[in-house]
Formats: sequence, structure tokens, C-alpha cells
Amino acid sequence: LKMTFNKIHRINRGEIGMIIVLQDVTKEQKLEQIRKDFVANVSHELRTPLTTIKSYLEALEDGAVEDIELSHRFIKVASHETDRMIRLVSDLLHLSHLDDQQTKPNKTLVSVKEMIEDVIDRFSFQSKQRSIDLSSHLPEYLPTVELDRDQIDQVLDNLISNALKYTKEGGEIIVSARLKHHDLIIEVVDTGIGISKKHLSRLFERFYRVDKARSREMGGTGLGLAIAKEIVKAHDGDIMIESEVDKGTRVIVTIPVSK
Ligand code: ADP
Repeated sequence: LKMTFNKIHRINRGEIGMIIVLQDVTKEQKLEQIRKDFVANVSHELRTPLTTIKSYLEALEDGAVEDIELSHRFIKVASHETDRMIRLVSDLLHLSHLDDQQTKPNKTLVSVKEMIEDVIDRFSFQSKQRSIDLSSHLPEYLPTVELDRDQIDQVLDNLISNALKYTKEGGEIIVSARLKHHDLIIEVVDTGIGISKKHLSRLFERFYRVDKARSREMGGTGLGLAIAKEIVKAHDGDIMIESEVDKGTRVIVTIPVSK
């Protein structure tokens, strides 16, 4: 709590008074802490791949370049780390664009059926590679709805790529969509490693990961769910996660649609 004293002088009656302003600064302090944590996280996330690249370049400089096979391997690592940084910076730019209140979703009439079938197609190669059965579950009739197709595609991409990252070979992923009253409900369900209860409430925070090493290894930036949440929020919708360790995860996106 911050207390401010303001002396006032009421000229007409010649009195001197005092105003005490009580202001709740807990929110301000929390925001400041979030901002500081964010900067620290970004710096750390960029520093890690940079340090790796630097050490591989040094090794090449120190002679590894003479060994063709070794230098190919080192260049591959450096290139892989560069890709990660590009992904991270793109995700950050995307988030900052979404943070800008001026940018509203660019809504058009979209066929949900087509949108889901397209995203399944986009991931069919990757899912086959990992022997994961990816399919859709759609009702006979699904009307067209107004939404920002590019943005919702991004949400679906993030959710399905997570399902793929955190599901073992032989698992299953089902993407479903349905209309309930005035809401479009999209679900991505996997039979993956699951998430324990204590993490569930923090998953949408920027850079929050259950297992940092695993996420990095799978190429994650820790921003996928934060981006999905911002996009769904911009559509006045909601995103929730239900999960059970070793059983799987269900992400539920609800978007109100005007009929
Ligand atoms: P990342 O790039 O690390 O995947 P996200 O923001 O997309 O970042 O997800 C945050 C964390 O939530 C992940 O690091 C992972 O621990 C957990 N997570 C997300 N989706 C799933 C899922 N389908 N199954 C298990 N864990 C998940």
C-alpha cells in the first residue's frame, strides 16, 4: 500500500487541509516483477544457443575445421541452434504484436471442417514419422463461423505440435470441433505423457515449461501456449487444459461465434 500526503490550501476559506491517498500498488509491483522475469527469461533463452554456437565456432577455429566429418557435425549444431533463435524471436515478435491492443482479429467466414482437415494434412507427415495416429472427429454438419483463420491456424498448429512433442510413438491424437449453443469448441486430445496437477495453472505463462530440457530437446520455445492464449483471448474465447500424468492431455478451446 502506498500512502501519499498532499497538502492543500483552500483559498476561499483560508483553511489548510491534508489529503491522504491510499493506493494499492501490489498490482503495479506484480506487473513490474513479471516484466523483469520476462526480460531475464528472454536473455537466458537467447544466451543459451549463442553460447553453444560460439563454442562450436571456436572449436572449428582451433582446428576442427580440418576434419571434414567433425566440421559438418559442428556446423549442423550451430545451424540447429540458429533455427531455435529464429523461432524464439519470431514467437516473441508474434506475442508483442498480439499484446498491442490495436490489433484486432481479422475475421472472415471460415469453414471449420476445412480448417481442421487442412491442419491434419499439414501434420500428417510428421505424425507418420513418429508413428502417431492423428485424426479428426467432426460432426456431419459444421457451419461456417467468423474467425481469424491465420490466427486460429496458429493456435491449432501450436496445440497439435505440442501433442506430437509430448506423445510417445504409437500414441494417438484426435482433433475435434463442434458447436454448442453460441460457442465453437475445438479440442486437441492426446495419449501422451500428461502434465501433473501442480503445473496446470501456470502452463499459459510465457516461458513456463514442465520439463525445460525436454521442451528444448523437442525444439520448444516455451511460448506456444502463451501465444495460443492471447489469440483465443482476442477472439473473446477461453482455453483450458485437462491432463493426467501418463494418460494424456486435453486442450479445450472455446470461441463464441455469432449466429
Ligand atoms: P513448449 O515450446 O515448451 O512446448 P508451450 O508453451 O507450448 O511451450 O507449452 C508449455 C509446456 O506445457 C511445455 O513445455 C510442456 O511441458 C507442457 N505441455 C504443453 N502441451 C502438452 C501436451 N500436449 N502434453 C504434455 N505436456 C504439454
